[in-house]
Formats: sequence, structure tokens, C-alpha cells
Amino acid sequence: MRAIVYRGVNDLRLEIVPVPRIGTNELLVKVAVCGVCPTDIKKIQYGTVPPPRIFGHETAGTVVHIGGGASVLASRFKIGDRVALHHHVPCLDCHFCRHHAFAQCETYKRTGITAGFQPAGGGYAEYVRVMPFVLPGVVKIPAQNSFAEGAMLEPVNTVLKAVRRLSLLRGDVVLVAGQGPIGLMFTRLLQLSGAQVIATDLMESRLRLAKKFGAKWTMLASKPDQVGRAVSCPPSDGAHGVTRPAKVQPPTLIHRATHDRGLDAAVMAVPSDAVVRQAQTWLRGGGQLMLFAHTKRGAVMEIDPATVCVDEKDLLGSYSSDFTLQDEVARLVFSRQLDVRNLITHRFPLAETAAAVRLAGRPTKDSLKIIVEGTACRHP
Ligand SMILES: [Zn+2]
Ligand SMILES: [Zn+2]
Repeated sequence: MRAIVYRGVNDLRLEIVPVPRIGTNELLVKVAVCGVCPTDIKKIQYGTVPPPRIFGHETAGTVVHIGGGASVLASRFKIGDRVALHHHVPCLDCHFCRHHAFAQCETYKRTGITAGFQPAGGGYAEYVRVMPFVLPGVVKIPAQNSFAEGAMLEPVNTVLKAVRRLSLLRGDVVLVAGQGPIGLMFTRLLQLSGAQVIATDLMESRLRLAKKFGAKWTMLASKPDQVGRAVSCPPSDGAHGVTRPAKVQPPTLIHRATHDRGLDAAVMAVPSDAVVRQAQTWLRGGGQLMLFAHTKRGAVMEIDPATVCVDEKDLLGSYSSDFTLQDEVARLVFSRQLDVRNLITHRFPLAETAAAVRLAGRPTKDSLKIIVEGTACRHP
């Protein structure tokens, strides 16, 4: 079969590799769609894991083979089922799982889906092998939904998990910095959970989209270290807002939206330290700052510890998915309450995965979520 093999930093090659052999209680899935995810891009661009590997973990496809002697779990599936996969599934039983820290569970850290080599997701290949311990993470895709929607369950799950880590009350004001695909999912899921969202981005086009995803206010961010140079404050009737210069920090918009209290929470969907420091000053006492894009190890950031100790501004992080939210995520995506179809802007054939990764790594004003499509599994 054809697969995109990671051979070193920024070195993705189209190669012919064996179709994975499956054992008892395993599934072979023909890949229809695989999303391009920032965590894989970083591994490819910075070479943080040794080659060779076949990446791609936001995978949806069709069950084409079920390993012999199928267990109760494996017998839930039949040939032809359209499924979305999760490459990490927690044991639900260890010390970490009992603390709901699923991403720290040893079972969770194992990657249960592969197209060959050291398991790394394998979605950038024609077929993947699904191991028994991730079978609980396999979700059937309803007939009216596309494979692409199925492939979005994993990233949406990671975002819902982070939203749930915030202690929000209805009507709370939350800033979401960055309106790429992840930021837009935050905007929508926060709105659905009753928060009022201030969406910021460097691109006007993304702010317009943020309004469609439920942002109550949008604010054009400036390059780091030049504080919000303009605010766009649409009146509540939904008409187009006016843009006026912001004189003070925090910007007038935040003052007004929060009745001078400051933000209840801020979500960092961009890996910028300047934006973190800025948002930290805009939080109210006891507010929460969620780091969602700071996935590169070894960086050092200055922060005034008294803002955490005295002002009780919590610094939180969230990474990866929460298995216990899977049903809810499937409901949100498949009912299109969160319509992920509006996030997908580019589709690349498998052979052009390297170009897909390049574009996802350097987004343009027209690009949001980028997916790689297999050859055979077309679906409306
Ligand atoms: Zn991902
Ligand atoms: Zn566990």
C-alpha cells in the first residue's frame, strides 16, 4: 500500500509499505480521511521523535477486516462499518485515570493505531491496524455524516476537555486568542456551554468566521507586544461593528464586556508568550488562563508569580483527549451543533501529504483545517 513515511526533519516520503497484518481482536481500516494536526506538524518540523514513522491520527475510514476470534468488543463491528478512530485510549483504572488525568495514563500514552514502524497514528497511509486496547475509542459514523466529520472527533474532544477544565458560570466572559480551527472550536463550544466569547486573531477574515462560530465580540490582535490596536464592537443586534482605536489596556471592549472586572478566563490557542502575558493582565482575580498551544518543551516564560499567588489567577493546561467525553463529542459533531464542515478548507490526496503539512504549518488567510483523503472511500 502507499504510505507517507517520516524519514527525518521535514522529510516525508511517499513509499510502498506492507498492508499491516492484524491479529486477534484487531481491526484493519481502510483510511478515507485523516486530518492534519499541529502536534504532528511539530514532530515533523522539529524532529522530536526518531524516524521512521507514519503519522496521522485524526483518522476515519471503513472496517475491511476483523481479526479472528473476535472478542465482545471487536464483534461490535462488521465489515463495511464507517468509523472514526482514537489512537489513545486510557485504562480508566490507574492512579492517573482515577484522578481524571487520562493523558498521563501509561495505557493512554501507548499509540494503538499504526500503518507500520513505531506506531504513530498511521493515518497518512491507505490502511491502518487498530489494536485491541483502542477499540473502545472506535466510533461509528452515522450514515448522514461524512468521513471528514468523523475525523474531527479527536480534535474536538481535545477542545471540549479543555473547556471542561475551566470553572465557568453562565454568562462568563472568555477570551479565545487565535481563531484557527482549534480556536474556532473553542469559540463555538464555549458559546454552547453558556459563555460569552471575545475572539481575537491577527486576521480579519478569521474574526468574521469567529462571529459565525458564536463569538459575541471580536478583537483584532496586533503583532505581539503592540497591545490591541483596534477593537470591533458589534452592537447586540448583530449588525456590523465599528472599529475604533483602543486607548487603554485592557482594551475598552474587555472593560465593557466584563463590567470592569476583567476576563473570567482566557484560552491561548496560539503559542505566543506575549499573548499569554497580555491575557494574564486582562484576567480578573481568581480568573483562569488555559494554555492549549504551548506544546514545545524547553521554553521559558516570565510570569509574575504574585498574579498566581495573590491574585489567584490559575494557570492551566490541557492536552489530548478525554475518553469519557467521547459520546458527547460525537453528539455535538454529528448533530452539527458544532458544524466542523465549516472548518475544512483544503483537501489533499495522500500523495501530497507533505504539501498539506506545509500549508497547515504556515496557514494563510484562506486556510483552516486541512485534511488528507484516501483514494477509494468517497462519501457525500
Ligand atoms: Zn490531533
Ligand atoms: Zn489509566
